[in-house]
Formats: sequence, structure tokens, C-alpha cells
Amino acid sequence: MTKSGFCENCNKLVSYNTIEKNTYQIIREKKYYYNKLYAFCKECGEELSENSITDENLRRLDIAYRLEEHIISVEEISEILRKYKIGKKPLAKLLGWGEVTLIRYLNGENVPTRPYSDELYKILNDSNYMLEILEKNKERITEKAYNKVKKEINAMNRWNLKNGIDSQIEIVVAYITNKTEITPLALQKILYYAQGFYMAFFGKELFHEDCQAWVHGPVFSDIYNKFRPYGYDSIKFEADYDIEDILDEDRKELLDVIINYFGYYNGKALEKMSHIEKPWLMARAGLGPDENSNNIISKKSILEYFKSVKEKYNMVNILDIRNYSGYLFNEISKM
Ligand SMILES: [Zn+2]
Repeated sequence: MTKSGFCENCNKLVSYNTIEKNTYQIIREKKYYYNKLYAFCKECGEELSENSITDENLRRLDIAYRLEEHIISVEEISEILRKYKIGKKPLAKLLGWGEVTLIRYLNGENVPTRPYSDELYKILNDSNYMLEILEKNKERITEKAYNKVKKEINAMNRWNLKNGIDSQIEIVVAYITNKTEITPLALQKILYYAQGFYMAFFGKELFHEDCQAWVHGPVFSDIYNKFRPYGYDSIKFEADYDIEDILDEDRKELLDVIINYFGYYNGKALEKMSHIEKPWLMARAGLGPDENSNNIISKKSILEYFKSVKEKYNMVNILDIRNYSGYLFNEISKM
């Protein structure tokens, strides 16, 4: 698709090229760096301004600002509504905020200040906190809304705390190690790809735990420590609960696909694959190849990357993930 815009110099609609340049914008005496897009007329080479480019640049600046200031994004605020099956109005009421305030945050019109943002993050990340607020302020919302949220939180708690297991990632690990023989190194990468593609396809996290950008690729440190003694052997891990019963169908199907398409490769190959991908590379920016780091690879960067992979490889359903694992294998074979 060729893009066109109005060139002041040529005084007509022209098609244009774009380039990206890392630059900054000063907001309240502080510099915020982001990759800004510039459009140039294909006919005369002059820079031109175009609404969609301006919008995109505002969006990028907004992301940079929020990242730097640890301010919750519009996407994450929407995630609260999806996560708890709650409407804007009842959520605003539970929080004791005006509905308009929340609506402005949700359409990006206003950026929450740090205290408001922290409150939203707390709700997003801690369902027990949400439950606390829900119980405390339940008189403010309808019984129907209350029941809906309560039901969601109960379901989450079942998934979180079933039989005393307190980590979602461990349930996922139990599923994987029961399905296939896998070494600790390969397991780490399988978890990473599973998280990435689950987020890209379902718009939410497969499990809550974050991974770090270690020298050998993305690593979930708790799982690493737990299974480290297996070294280069296959992990033996018998869960004392019924995994099939805890994991929903979407999660199981996605994990089966990842096991089929990525589990086929050994740990070293998978490590090389993760090394040519943006989330790991970005989280290690400025570090030498052998330099240790506990930098978190943010779920946001994982989501963005795997969403772009999903688009690029025309993935309609999860079986199409095969296109990408095949591509990665080709790439590392050339190395
Ligand atoms: Zn021109």
C-alpha cells in the first residue's frame, strides 16, 4: 500500500517515504527519547507533515513517557476491565473516582499521575487487592456487577492457588514436562515462546512470572533455580495435582503447539533463536555478550514483538506458529 500526503512544495498529493530517527521531546524540563517518524515527498524530497504520521509520533512519545515514568498504559488500563469483567462505571465507583476521570485515562486523553497510576497497577497485578476494594465498596455498585467481578476473582484464585501451588508458571512447567522430555535450558525457551504466542493470540498473559535477559537468553529465574540440578538431563517433575483440570483448553492447546514446533529443537538451538529476537536484544542493550544481567524482559515488549510476528507471518490460528519456528531455524542454520 503506497501512502500519500500533501506536499507543500509540490502543492499536490504525493506519495512519500518514511524514515525513523531516535530523538527526544522535552516535557517539564526532562528529555524523553523515542523513535520518531519523518515523511519525505517522493517527488521533491522535502519533508511533509501528515496526520497519520503525527498521530503515530504522539503515540510513540506517549509510550516512551509512560515507560520512563512508570505510568500505566491505556492498554493496561483496558486490561483491568477485561481481567475483572468490570465496566468503567462500576470500576470508577469502586475506586471512588469520577467516571469521567477514568474514561479520559481509557481513551488516552489524560495521562494518570503517579498515585493514580500506582493504584491502577496495584489493581491490575493483585487480584486480592481488587477483592479488598470490591468488598469494602460493594454498596456503591449493583449486585450484578459485584457478582460478576467476584466470580472472576474466584476463578483467578483457583488458578493461582489450587492445592497450595502459588505459581502459575509451575503449573505450566508441570504440563510441559509431562508431555515431553525436556532439559532445563530448552524448558526456559519453551516457556518464553509459549508466553509470547499466548499473549499475541489471546491478549493476556499465559502466566504471571517475568523473565530476565540472561547471557543464554530469556530465563525465568525461579524455574531455573528449581530445575538447575538436572543439568543437561531431562527434567522429571511429577505434580501432585491434576494439571489437566487446572489448565484451560486455550492454554493447553497453545502449549501443545509450542511443544510440537519448538520442542523439536535442542536447548542450544532455541537459545540462538532467542538471541536474534528483539525483546532479549532490547533488554540487554548496552551489555557485553558475556555480561550478567537480571534485566527484566517486559511483558509489554514480549507482547509487542510476538504480535508483530503474528502479523508478519500471517498467523490466523495457532497452528501457523510453525511458520515462525521454521523461519528461526533457517536463520540460525546460516550462522
Ligand atoms: Zn514534493
